[in-house]
Amino acid sequence: MIGALNGSSVRTFATVAFAVCGFLGLIIWGEYSSWRSQVVRIEAELVQTSKALVQHADDTIDMSKFPLSALMTQIEQERADPNLAVKIAATMKRQVDTTSWLDTLSVMSADGRIVATSSQVQTQNLSFADRDYFKFHKSSITRQPVLSKPVKSRISGEWILPITQRISNLDGSFGGIAFASITVADFVKFFEAFRIGNEGSFQLIRSDGIILARQPFVESLMATDVSGYDLFKVHLAHGEEGSYHYISPVDGTQRIGGFYRSQHSGLVGLAAASQSEALSAWMRGAHQRWLSGIVVVTITGMLAWRWRRQVLLRRAGEALLVAREAEFRLLAEGSSDLIQRFNGLGVREYLSPSSKEIFGIDAEHMIGTSILDNLHEDDREGVIQMMNRLRSGSLRENMIVRRKRADGKQIWLETTLNRLPGAIAEIKDIRLVAVTRDVTRQKKLQEELDQLANTDELTQLANRRSFNIHFDEMVERATMQKLPLSLLMIDADRFKFFNDTYGHAAGDDCLKALAQVALGSIRRAKDLAARYGGEEIAILLPDTDVTGAERVAQTIRQRVANLKLPHEKNIPWGYVTISIGTATLHSDEAGLLTASELFDRADHALYQAKNAGRNQVLAAEDEGVIAAMITGSRSA
Ligand code: GH3
Ligand code: MG
Ligand code: MG
Repeated sequence: MIGALNGSSVRTFATVAFAVCGFLGLIIWGEYSSWRSQVVRIEAELVQTSKALVQHADDTIDMSKFPLSALMTQIEQERADPNLAVKIAATMKRQVDTTSWLDTLSVMSADGRIVATSSQVQTQNLSFADRDYFKFHKSSITRQPVLSKPVKSRISGEWILPITQRISNLDGSFGGIAFASITVADFVKFFEAFRIGNEGSFQLIRSDGIILARQPFVESLMATDVSGYDLFKVHLAHGEEGSYHYISPVDGTQRIGGFYRSQHSGLVGLAAASQSEALSAWMRGAHQRWLSGIVVVTITGMLAWRWRRQVLLRRAGEALLVAREAEFRLLAEGSSDLIQRFNGLGVREYLSPSSKEIFGIDAEHMIGTSILDNLHEDDREGVIQMMNRLRSGSLRENMIVRRKRADGKQIWLETTLNRLPGAIAEIKDIRLVAVTRDVTRQKKLQEELDQLANTDELTQLANRRSFNIHFDEMVERATMQKLPLSLLMIDADRFKFFNDTYGHAAGDDCLKALAQVALGSIRRAKDLAARYGGEEIAILLPDTDVTGAERVAQTIRQRVANLKLPHEKNIPWGYVTISIGTATLHSDEAGLLTASELFDRADHALYQAKNAGRNQVLAAEDEGVIAAMITGSRSA
């Protein structure tokens, strides 16, 4: 469920991915721009450096031409002087001593031997006739000074740049050369003043591509021809200055080169820096930026991932809740019992469709009603107490209550309430699930059973068991409330003979008739008539004194007599009669007389009535009399 993405999630994800890509694109573009501007700055610096380099070389070479031309003039003017060699040697020595950039000045004869020199070294045995510059002047009539390829000096052993000029005899024939030299080391030293890193390089190149000087100094490269390289073939072909990137053929490093060509001399300068070295500071800064960027992106990503996970978990939780709720409803709605859910305040939040059957009202119309609504007045207090127990921690409660249906009928409901587990902050957060069943039918059956258990089958009066229970209760109440209570004991006269004469079935019918009379003669709801024994009926009359009891008893006796049910052996009347003994618990006797004592009194009065001739009422009056007579009476 967590892995599943719905349409809106896919859209959200795509939007986030798009935003992240856009953001990364911006960062990369920013980094690229920063890198580009750095490179452009380095390129411009290198071009400037190469320009400074070439201008210095131009100046140095130009200045070297002055002493050379001064020398030429002296030789031509004093050609005839036999001491010329000694004189010019002195001049040359002075020139070299006072000119820092000048290495040596020499004059060579037409056979290539040194005639005079500023150098201290012995040169008599040396010949320079094989040198390129010598051969050049020998064959060329040009009188201009010429910058030659660098050579390793035969005098000092150092690499030098020769600047030479032809000396012509008066007839124009070749008379030798004047020679000035600058040491390559001086140039290299000058280059060192420019800092372009450990892996940088400078080159001074003649217009035809011959390397004149290089820093770092590499002897094998001196005087080599680079006119075939891109610098000449591509870049100088398009402009006098500029920059380009290349891989050094010497050390294989990636270089950025800035070049410049002098319009004055055609000399080319190339200042080159190692790309990695020149950009190292920027790279360090970029590394830090990228590192912090990666950390930020990682943290953001992790937070986003966590957030997404939580969202998905919450959604899964919600889906689970919905599924649970659906499951609960499915179970509830399939049940014939009414399933209800209450909050802690006893307000209905859910009812299953059985609501219609039980309450007579649709479930949705019952939502929001209280558990106390339409409850029988006598059951309210019990329900309030039960709710209090559930609120204070009880997990399960049971109740049987009466409630009014929508049609006004009273029904009995049996409900089991379960408190759902879970922490709660407020009472209304408590959830109670109730299973309710209509037990009206069972209640009725039970009442009927109770009725059966307490009723005499023949006469439909209360039976003796019921009489005993009520008798004790009534005595107790009369004692408490200080009210009188009367008891009537009724017995059919000579009933044995009735049975003998008319049969037992007729006897039963007669008993039913007597019961009807007894029942019809009592008025109050609390009065009770019970079949006490075979043909004996007991009547309890609460709140009834002696007079009242006498009156009721006489009424019953009279009514039975009036029935004139034939009983020929009941002489002298010839019809059915009864005798009644009454006893009354007086209000001032409260607590002094027990139920059984009261019974004994009534029974004894009945005994007296029989003795006195039957078909009459006798009241037990005097306690003393009763005590005397009690010996012969039957016990209750
Ligand atoms: P007395 O006037 O002294 O009361 O004479 P009696 O014959 O009625 O004597 P007693 O009360 O002792 O007799 C009770 C008679 O009532 C015994 C029995 O034949 C009759 N009897 C008791 N229970 C029933 C009954 O359920 N049905 C019928 N048919 N007769 C009963
Ligand atoms: Mg009897
Ligand atoms: Mg009798």
